[in-house]
Amino acid sequence: MDRIKTLHTVTLDFDKCKGCITCMRRCPTEAIRVRDGKASVDFDKCIACGECVRLCPHNAKKPAYDDFDVINNYKYKIAIPSPSLYGQFNNLSDVNYVLTGLLKIGFDDVMEVGKGAELASETTRILFDRKNDDYPVISTACPAVLELILVKYHNLKDNLLNLLAPVDITAKLARDRAIEKGIPPEDIGVFFISPCPAKVFALKCGIGVQKPYVDGVLANSDVYLKLLPVINKLSESEVKPLSKMSIIGLQWASSGGETAAAYRDKYLAADGIENVINILNSLEDGTLGEVEFIELGACTGGCVGGVMNIENPFVAKARIRELRTKFPGTRNHLADEGKSLEYYLWEREPTVKDVFKLHKDRATAMERLLKINELMEELPQIDCGLCGAPTCRAFCEDKVGGVISMDQKCPRLK
Ligand code: SF4
Ligand code: SF4
Repeated sequence: MDRIKTLHTVTLDFDKCKGCITCMRRCPTEAIRVRDGKASVDFDKCIACGECVRLCPHNAKKPAYDDFDVINNYKYKIAIPSPSLYGQFNNLSDVNYVLTGLLKIGFDDVMEVGKGAELASETTRILFDRKNDDYPVISTACPAVLELILVKYHNLKDNLLNLLAPVDITAKLARDRAIEKGIPPEDIGVFFISPCPAKVFALKCGIGVQKPYVDGVLANSDVYLKLLPVINKLSESEVKPLSKMSIIGLQWASSGGETAAAYRDKYLAADGIENVINILNSLEDGTLGEVEFIELGACTGGCVGGVMNIENPFVAKARIRELRTKFPGTRNHLADEGKSLEYYLWEREPTVKDVFKLHKDRATAMERLLKINELMEELPQIDCGLCGAPTCRAFCEDKVGGVISMDQKCPRLK
């Protein structure tokens, strides 16, 4: 299935938007414009990183995800929570409270994404043992980073690890388990409980898979608010031993967790979109040095920093670290699952996107480039943003691409 080009990953509350241009200045792919005092997003360029949601001082931007009631469209509902969900709870003595709570609020089964993460770690180690070139390998676990590479760093596509994301692995396993129990496939709904809009985007578009394995994506924050009163009332005897996760799976919630489980010496882990961009630029320039594995997360701190969480990323990270004592070192092994290695790998290669090409026809693109350079000469080139575009160059590109009128003037030159 091809990507859904117009999938809206963030929404705007028009009344709250003050046109302050904060979001436009920080969007890593220049996907935002502010015209007539309101922000708008070119969703072909948006990588769903959530920066505009995080930074809007007026709370005008919201991530797009499914309403909790979507689970009622299915007879057999499976929750697959991200390990970052555990970091939202204060004084959580046992994660089985959360998993039992999920059954109480309407789900029929649960499978932690940490299980898929541990299997992804083992698959990564096997893939590393097999290959001896094309270093460094770039993790594909953060869909915002994956999208960023597909839209802006085409030269790095061959460095991407061809491994399914832990959430896809978990969704596949959870669905298979339900089918083995005799549940009709059409009755099964698999719902990811997510920390960020990038995962909503990736799962709905089905990046790396033939068709999406999840039927809905819920927000950590929404599910937390539903779970809290239920968990507070649970007695110890009601709590079921449902967790099948290990430290390896848990630590994927924070930056550095994936690399730690890859067992490589020459690795690099960076988080936060600006740091990610710096690393990718260095990698493209050939100035990064000798590294075998690169883990990159768009959010500060990793998934605990996603904008669909409730808790401060640093607090959530500390809680995840504390929870480590409650889990065994390892628990899930490929040999026990009885699947081939291919089960865990991309079913189809994601394709690069030419959203920054000036035109698909080379001659027209060249003509436009010359015109942009000519227009640039007339501008102050200070990237003030007053025109509603993030840079003077983007202003010229919008003119030449027909997004705005050629007559529009730079506000500083009026
Ligand atoms: S940050 Fe963007 S969405 Fe928020 S008020 Fe400013 S222009 Fe509007
Ligand atoms: S989610 Fe990220 S890429 Fe998309 S518009 Fe917001 S800041 Fe830009």
